Formats: sequence, C-alpha cells, structure tokens
Amino acid sequence: MKHSPNSPILLTASLHVNEARKAIASLVSDLLQEATSLHAQNDIETVSLDQAINRILAQDLLSPIDVPSADNSAMDGYAFDGKCLSQDKTDVTLKIVGTALAGKPFGGKIGQGECLKIMTGALMPADCDTVIPQEFTTSSNEEIICFPSNQLRAGENRRLRGEDLQKGKAAIAAGRLLRPSDLGLAASLGVSSLQVHRKLKVAILSSGDELRSLGQPLDPSSIYDSNRYSLTGMLNRLNIEIIDCGIVRDNPDSLKEAFIDAASKADVLISSGGVSVGEADFTKQIMQELGDVGFWKIAMRPGRPMAFGTLKPIPGKSPARKTLFFGLPGNPVAVMVTFYQFVRSALLQLNGASVTELPLVQAISETAIRKKPGRTEFQRAILGRNAEGRPSVRLTGSQGAGILRSMSEANCFVILGHEQGNIAAGDLVDIALFDGLL
Ligand code: AMP
Ligand code: MG
Repeated sequence: MKHSPNSPILLTASLHVNEARKAIASLVSDLLQEATSLHAQNDIETVSLDQAINRILAQDLLSPIDVPSADNSAMDGYAFDGKCLSQDKTDVTLKIVGTALAGKPFGGKIGQGECLKIMTGALMPADCDTVIPQEFTTSSNEEIICFPSNQLRAGENRRLRGEDLQKGKAAIAAGRLLRPSDLGLAASLGVSSLQVHRKLKVAILSSGDELRSLGQPLDPSSIYDSNRYSLTGMLNRLNIEIIDCGIVRDNPDSLKEAFIDAASKADVLISSGGVSVGEADFTKQIMQELGDVGFWKIAMRPGRPMAFGTLKPIPGKSPARKTLFFGLPGNPVAVMVTFYQFVRSALLQLNGASVTELPLVQAISETAIRKKPGRTEFQRAILGRNAEGRPSVRLTGSQGAGILRSMSEANCFVILGHEQGNIAAGDLVDIALFDGLL
C-alpha cells in the first residue's frame, strides 16, 4: 500500500497493523530516496571498534586479508603427509620429530614416516596436509605414534588459508546492526575502525495539561509524565541521540511552537498524548499547517489512535529535510506497544539497517486467553518453562493500556494476530521478547 496519510480510508476505517507497518515503511523508503536523504555521504562517520557496538554499518567491510592467513591445525594431534594413508585397517606408525604450538611454528622438515606434534591453531608445515587427533593415536613410547590407516582421510583436520574469509570479499554487509561478534570479526581482520551511519536525532515530547515533571508536586488531577522516560529507555537501547523537548501544554500555540522547535533539530519527532478522539481535531489543525500527517485508527489493542507522517522542512534547517513524525497515544503501555510495533522498525530503516523486524518466537500459553478476531493484541506476559521444561507464557495480571506495571513485570509480549480468536490453554502463541531487544 502506498503511503497516503490523509487518505479518507485511513481516517475512517480501522487500519490493519500490517497495513500501517507497510505504509510507514513505504514513507521511510521515500524519505531515503530524497536528495538530502540521511544516507548521504556526509551522514556517514568513522568510529573506532570500541565505539561501534549497536551502530549501523554504512559500507560493506571488505576483508583486507585471507582468514586464516595460512593453513593451520584444527585439532590437537599430529600433522603428517596424508599420502601414506590407505583405506585398509593397517596401522600407520610415525616418528615424532618436533612440536608446533599456536604462535610457535616448527621450522624444520617432516619427511616420509615422520610427523609433527601440533596444537590447535598452529601453522601446518608445508610438507603436511593432515592431522590425526591425539585421542585416535596409541603410542608405545614418546617418540612414536600409531593409528589405523582408515581412521581418517588425507586433508582432514586442517583449516585452509582463506577458509573463513577471502581477501577482498565482504566480511560484513552494509546495513548490519553491529553486534559483539561483528566487532570481533573486524578485529580478526586487523580493522580498527568502521564506517557507520551517524546516530539518528530523535526529539521526544509529552503533551497534556495533566502532566507533571518529576520533582513537581502532584494534585489529584495531575500525573507524572512517565512516557518520556520509557521512550528515552527504548531510544537509548537503539543508540539514538535524544532531544528531550519536555512537556507541552494542551494549547495550540505551545504545541505548534514545540513541534517547530523539535522539527528544526531532529530527524524524527515522537510525541505522546493528544491523538485520541476529542483531542485529535486540535492536533490535526496544527499538523495541517506543519506538514502531511494522517490520523490513524489502528485495529490493535492497546494503542488504537496514532498520528503519522512528515513535518515540512523548517526554514533555516540545513540540509532542508522533512522530519518523520509519530504521534503516539498517551497511555503508557500503548506508547511502548506502538513504539515496538511501528517506531522501532522505522528508526532502524531510516538509519540504514537491513533487518528491522522484531524477532518472534513461539511458546505454549499456560492459560486460555480471550481474543476477538479483527484486531491485533499485544498482551504482556512472562516467558518461562512449564513442568515438561518447554517454553511457556503466562499473562501479567490486568492488561489495561494505562497499567505500566503489567509491562514492568513482563518479559515479553504475547502477540495475537488480527484474525486470531480465543486461545485455549496449551495452544502455541507468538511472542516478542523484551530482553535482548534493541
Ligand atoms: P491522551 O492520548 O492524551 O488522551 O492520553 C491518554 C491517557 O494517557 C490519559 O489518561 C493521559 O493522562 C495519559 N497520558 C498521556 N500522556 C502521558 C504521559 N506522558 N505520561 C503518563 N501518562 C500519560
Ligand atoms: Mg491528553
């Protein structure tokens, strides 16, 4: 589906979660095609390996060397020339003429009937191509080893030069969200810095007259602004530069001013609150002046209302770029659910990541779950193991959209698909884990 935030269809009908996701991905892809896109060369920076974790690789990392750089032993054992092997059970007897350790090669020659005691990772001598593991050999004294000839074939237990990576080939593809293994891999190639996309700048603001900042006194009609903190936590995990625009009161002038300020500094603006029925008209009016934003009713629970689109480039902003805008619902759980469902993948895509989806796994539901077809539900749950030791989930108490405790106690979402109906105890359900999430 092509993105069209103001289309009447999106305004009136309930939008399937997947349609919303597609529309978002399509708009982000359009933004990336623009001349001043975030992926222009001047938005790429070089960082040292120790700073590269969770950054997104901007160019393929080409291996400057063969890995391994020479043939070496894959086992602790004895290296010899495999020509002496046959497929019968006759014993091969070899004389040990020296030792090679990792980092300490053997300098001499290995002739016919001879072998070299060799440790894993040690350089293979030029005249050997095979290693018999230590545990397959017998020995009557310290100078001789014996093993059945058909125990192995010539060439076994040797790691070949360039077997892992060949010089000039891509060791890590552009778009990789760099993990510890990638940093280790880069280091194994002697590469000390990587080209990554610069960190995204994301402005966050909370809207609502009832909101108070931490440290301010509460009266019965006010609540603390928690959304900015859960958003900050989720954005920090994604390694994003956060611009905190604070709390904005429910009045058109303050809201407009705050949006313009945020859009002048940030690549993306995420607001929470002010998009539900009753308040949306007010926000819509401002958005019409500032950009192209659709107000969506999404067939999901929690998190039904959401605004999404772009804000026009603010005069003076350089380069003249649009700002991607997410107007999330105000309910604290809905903020987190809509972030994980829609915002997270859009931010990763905008920042050049090739994999943007949340990983899903399945577990057995310990209890029955009531579910109406026609909307996607995100229930908070704890993944553990059942009596048979198999992965199983149970929901964390009350699932109201405002009950952040249900989220705090949970370690995963149970995701119940759009068409899905009631779940019986023992059914398999999809889950998305919180831990290990970025
Ligand atoms: P709204 O989407 O503005 O109608 O807000 C929905 C509910 O979420 C209301 O109960 C608000 O008080 C609450 N809410 C809105 N923003 C926040 C926030 N930043 N922190 C905590 N609760 C909020
Ligand atoms: Mg409000």
